Amino acid sequence: MNPPLQRVFLDHHSTTPCDPRVVAAMLPWFHERPGNAASPHLFGWEAKQAVEDAQQHIATLVNCRPSEIVFTSGATESNNLALQGLMRAEAGKQRHLVISSLEHPSVLQTAHALAAEGFELSVVPPRQGGIVDPADLQAAFRDDTLMCSVHWAHNEIGCVQPIEAIGRLCRARNIRFHSDATQAVGRIPVDARHADLLSFSAHKMYGPKGIGALVVRRVSPRIRLRPLFHGGGQQHGHRSGTLPVSLVVGFGAACRLASELQREEGVRILRLRERLHERLRAGLDGVLLNGEAERRLPGNLNLSFLGVEAQALLLQLPGVALSVGSACHTDDGLPSPALLALGRSPEEAHAAIRFGIGRENTEAEIDGVADAVIAIVRKMREQTPVHAANRARYSEEPI
Ligand code: PMP
Repeated sequence: MNPPLQRVFLDHHSTTPCDPRVVAAMLPWFHERPGNAASPHLFGWEAKQAVEDAQQHIATLVNCRPSEIVFTSGATESNNLALQGLMRAEAGKQRHLVISSLEHPSVLQTAHALAAEGFELSVVPPRQGGIVDPADLQAAFRDDTLMCSVHWAHNEIGCVQPIEAIGRLCRARNIRFHSDATQAVGRIPVDARHADLLSFSAHKMYGPKGIGALVVRRVSPRIRLRPLFHGGGQQHGHRSGTLPVSLVVGFGAACRLASELQREEGVRILRLRERLHERLRAGLDGVLLNGEAERRLPGNLNLSFLGVEAQALLLQLPGVALSVGSACHTDDGLPSPALLALGRSPEEAHAAIRFGIGRENTEAEIDGVADAVIAIVRKMREQTPVHAANRARYSEEPI
């Protein structure tokens, strides 16, 4: 194996390495500065100041007020707090929730759990390429619709949703709009003002694992949330528990870096993605792009290598972090629901690999991975010649 392939991380949708600058910012807050941000003494005050500074960095990145940020353990909790919290607190006569069928399990399962409790749920499928059409949401809206939730960018196929238009539509209908922006924040511009509630997570943007945020916008009428936990009433009662100051500082540092780097980094990562895609297409036939070609995250490439079992392919590249489907689903062996929703057959879905390019990846890594994938796919196809005959009938058109 080529030396660069011994350890290559190309799975930035599942998580990202914590940036060394983020680690450095966090370190003093583990030992030298142990204060509880709620304590009325020097140690507490300096912790409180650090939390406020971090909130400022986060608010700058997503264009919200620092006071609108509620810290959580990650986007799973943020999504649960948004959906459960709002539906339970605000439902009166209006008990209807609308989501897209491509939501992350932390939205999808929460919505289904609410439906099992007696709330009403409509699930709207995407159009071609994985894009949710605002007109389809509009058709699903009813007089008793209280809330709508659509992800900003998808964790498997990377497609970016028309969030501004959906937000406008919801506002016009007085429907609360939540967006799970976990895959978008730090990678593409995100403006929290398009939504009422916004979820995201530090570990998807070179920050530490174990902390996320829910932006609860100060809109009129005021958003009410029933908290998930009983406790000391921290964070305006939305989320009790002592703030993990070191993680908060890391989250803030990650957002500050993202504000500085995002634009240039996006261009560089997009070039790497195009390089990878071109090399794979030049070296192989029967490669399908899954998801919208243009409206997608710069670092996302989701490809089906027809005639190949993706799981078996990855086993031959143990040093390269890639994924079939996403790490968010348990390993149930079923084809990715997102790819099936795009109209892919189970066979095509089982042939899909998600490449997630990020900050630390280099051209040498991309070239090495492309060459290795080409060699393995060719070998696997030779071993199962029946697929060679089938390949000709597949189109190269992205869906
Ligand atoms: N939403 C999306 C779109 C995600 O990709 C993820 C992580 N895979 C989550 C939510 C959950 O994030 P966390 O790991 O911070 O709970």
